[in-house]
Amino acid sequence: MHEGAIAESIVDILKQTALENDLKGIVKVHLRIGKLSGVMVDALLFALEALRTEEKIIESTLFEIERVDVVAKCNICNREFSFDDETEMALICPSCGMPLEIISGKEMEIVDIEGV
Ligand SMILES: [Zn+2]
Repeated sequence: MHEGAIAESIVDILKQTALENDLKGIVKVHLRIGKLSGVMVDALLFALEALRTEEKIIESTLFEIERVDVVAKCNICNREFSFDDETEMALICPSCGMPLEIISGKEMEIVDIEGV
């Protein structure tokens, strides 16, 4: 994943939101990032930090990042399993060995934007 590009698109969304709502600045942004999204939170925060100097809109923005656990479902056993591991995981049902369907953990979304 290219966290720099993601950071820029987040700033674009914030600028658009500010324009539409007549905001002077963004106070707080709540992001949800799934552990399977491939986004490295540290790298994303670093990229956002780097944009702060050139983008007035995020000069004093607090970025709140919520990590979303990976939840996968077995369609054979009809059971759900959650995975806390951020590294490469085998998404195989522990009971029957069939591949699991991922229900959450891939998201990368802006949940809430607070402006002034
Ligand atoms: Zn199963």
